[in-house]
Amino acid sequence: MISVAIDGPAGAGKSTLAKAAAAELGYIYIDTGALYRAVALACIKNEVSIGDEDAVKALLPEIDIRLVFFNGEQHILLNDADVSDEIRKENVSMAASRVSAIPDVRAFLLELQRSFAKRDNVIMDGRDIGTVVLPSAQVKIFLTASPEKRARRRVLQLQEKGEQADFDKILFDIVQRDYNDSNRKTAPLKAADDAITLDTSELTLEESVDRIIGIIKENTI
Ligand code: C5P
Repeated sequence: MISVAIDGPAGAGKSTLAKAAAAELGYIYIDTGALYRAVALACIKNEVSIGDEDAVKALLPEIDIRLVFFNGEQHILLNDADVSDEIRKENVSMAASRVSAIPDVRAFLLELQRSFAKRDNVIMDGRDIGTVVLPSAQVKIFLTASPEKRARRRVLQLQEKGEQADFDKILFDIVQRDYNDSNRKTAPLKAADDAITLDTSELTLEESVDRIIGIIKENTI
């Protein structure tokens, strides 16, 4: 099996680029952030405070997360309910960043993530895929862009969906999540030593997709 790990900070375009590359190359795309988001949503729904690690830990056995694919699109089921849209809300993003710092949560999701790579050729995106989840991945890419570019792209995304977008608040949240993700003790966000770093700040979407596909092709033949 071939595994491609794409890591990087929030809003660097990982999911858009990984999805496009997976479609082009015939790989299964796995969005691991969705798994952390689902755990965060389970905490919110069950009124479990994310600051209370023991309570979060006690909730884990009650959580059943499955990824299913409809027409090639990943959907996430939390205890049989499709929560694919609900997990994208901004309050869930911040809660996911906080819940992901809890070592038991990371351990809970580790085998699930590895099981996908055993079954299929995958492009998996996250924060610790190249360092922890799939350290033997054949291709590791660390995707990044400046916080301002990432915030600007997020604003455009929300505006396209007809939703309100406050640039300053989005930038603040991005910087906060970068800090949380990079400074947690367990599996912090960082490039693997053997990762290829791609900064997309000055690249268009098409250029970024081409670069990613080029890197994967060069490293899998
Ligand atoms: O990628 P996305 O923004 O959807 O991820 C939500 C949160 O889940 C991130 O802010 C990060 O804290 C956490 N995460 C993680 N490890 C991963 C994927 C996501 O810690 N592999």
